[in-house]
Amino acid sequence: MPDFLRAQALSGGYDGKPAIHHVTLDVEKGSLTALLGANGAGKSTLMKVIAGLLPPLSGRLLFDEREITGWEAPRLVREGIAYVPEGRAIARSLTVKENLLLGGVTRSGGENKAQLDKVLALFPELSERLASPSWQLSGGQQQMMVIGRALMSRPRLLLLDEPSLGLAPLLVKRVFDRLEELRRSGLTILLVEQNYWMTMKVADRAYFMRNGRIVGRQEAADMRAADSLDHILSVYLGKSSEAKELS
Ligand code: ATP
Repeated sequence: MPDFLRAQALSGGYDGKPAIHHVTLDVEKGSLTALLGANGAGKSTLMKVIAGLLPPLSGRLLFDEREITGWEAPRLVREGIAYVPEGRAIARSLTVKENLLLGGVTRSGGENKAQLDKVLALFPELSERLASPSWQLSGGQQQMMVIGRALMSRPRLLLLDEPSLGLAPLLVKRVFDRLEELRRSGLTILLVEQNYWMTMKVADRAYFMRNGRIVGRQEAADMRAADSLDHILSVYLGKSSEAKELS
């Protein structure tokens, strides 16, 4: 399968100081590719560089065979790249529907109407809450809402940063079920996670990050056996799958 997103020797960081170094990574079209690593490894920085929120310091980015190096976020959204940051940034005083429609600002009213129906079919729990202020939603519902908001731009690539963060195990499972559904629908996803065990169940492959560098890549099928996952995590990240009990 052709590479859909390609980072080549990409470096980026803050105030001209790199936090990720020469990252080379490929995401195949239609795949769910995971980016795993401990706190501070550089995962969010890499996502922000891909999403156009931080400028690359060096290296290249290609999306669907187009050079997108240095493009800023609004242009990338129009090109089909949507980003869901870590921490569920919601517009608290807006209703659920208003939050969702914010994601569709690059689209026409007609497109948004059709896409809203699709998003609500994927997240039916939001249908009953459309008129509620978004701060009233549970953490799990807020996570569904921010994923739904990103989907409103009708992306071809979804960048998702730690959707399981701070959620109870049952809600984590619900979020991952939806990710599996999105992947089945053909959407290409790059997922940052620290819940390694759940991630391996839905991912096609994983890249491992440590100290701002990619230190390995594995096919998920080779990691699903508990022993392999523990072994691989200890080799690449120096730790084991503490989230295994969430399976
Ligand atoms: P986490 O899972 O905790 O979010 P991460 O793997 O996503 O970790 P990053 O947030 O990308 O890691 O952090 C990589 C490095 O960049 C860390 O050393 C961090 O301190 C630094 N960093 C992150 N955000 C900023 C910022 N806004 N300004 C300066 N340095 C930052």
